[in-house]
Amino acid sequence: MNLVTTVAELRAVLREPQRAGRTIGLVPTMGAFHEGHLSLMRRARAECDVVVVSLFVNPSQFNDAADLIGYPRDAERDAARASDIGVHYLFAPAVEEVYPPGFATTVSVGGLTDTLEGRHRGRAHFDGVTTVVTKLFNMVGPDVAYFGQKDAQQALVIRRLVRDLDMPVRIEVCPTIREPDGLALSSRNAHLSPDDRARAAALHRALDAVQRAVAAGERDPAAARLPALAALRAAQIEPEYLELVSTRTLVPVDRIDGEILAVVAARVGATRLIDNRLIQPSPNPDREVATVATAAPTTA
Ligand code: AMP
Repeated sequence: MNLVTTVAELRAVLREPQRAGRTIGLVPTMGAFHEGHLSLMRRARAECDVVVVSLFVNPSQFNDAADLIGYPRDAERDAARASDIGVHYLFAPAVEEVYPPGFATTVSVGGLTDTLEGRHRGRAHFDGVTTVVTKLFNMVGPDVAYFGQKDAQQALVIRRLVRDLDMPVRIEVCPTIREPDGLALSSRNAHLSPDDRARAAALHRALDAVQRAVAAGERDPAAARLPALAALRAAQIEPEYLELVSTRTLVPVDRIDGEILAVVAARVGATRLIDNRLIQPSPNPDREVATVATAAPTTA
């Protein structure tokens, strides 16, 4: 694996594979790699000829100075883990390389960014994300870029960015990797005290509780939220938000008729965590039998 720190060097090393028509996969990250990051890299490695992982703690997407200063960083360990997976290039630019003096451009996606994380972290958060991702796409020129379902709103916003600006890159969204007790892996989990770490699994339990309510036939979102709120309360967690929203628009649903997204954000101790879960209303029992019956011969 090669460590690259400048845009000029990155373009130079990618020129030849690009000219030869080899597929380039990009995994944008802020480092402090965990299995979630590594799953994206493995997927990119399996699907692309050349894999670039960017490691850049993007100051412009932090709404909290203390969060930026305290963000976990371990460049050496990150490089070793990426190398083990077979990543070809780790692109780790300095802040001045990405934002040189006089930098004055912002790429902003409307609508989808007004709610949930956008509402709670402020307009600048997603502006920071979409601006840096646009820059990374322009620097690398990837055929495919990999993002995690863990940041579901971010993934939707990036899809919209790519569609609206006709960027020639395919976006792949990969499943959330979790600890055995269900806690979604996150670089910020490193900040949790042992007690907070134990309580943090309640976010996952809350999303499970929504799933169970919907599977039991609940179609009223307000009612389906109640057991989830109870699960959080049992762990003394007050959510910033806990919503059942459309998977397309992120607007809260009036009724659970099709697939929805349950989303939660909460501070556990001093650490802000987010999680989400796709939820399907259970098919009616007759259809379930029919599906099994017709599926069996084709899968045999
Ligand atoms: P970050 O370094 O936190 O900006 O994350 C880099 C990428 O990894 C983003 O696309 C995240 O959505 C993704 N990611 C973070 N945590 C997980 C996880 N637990 N499972 C899968 N992907 C994740």
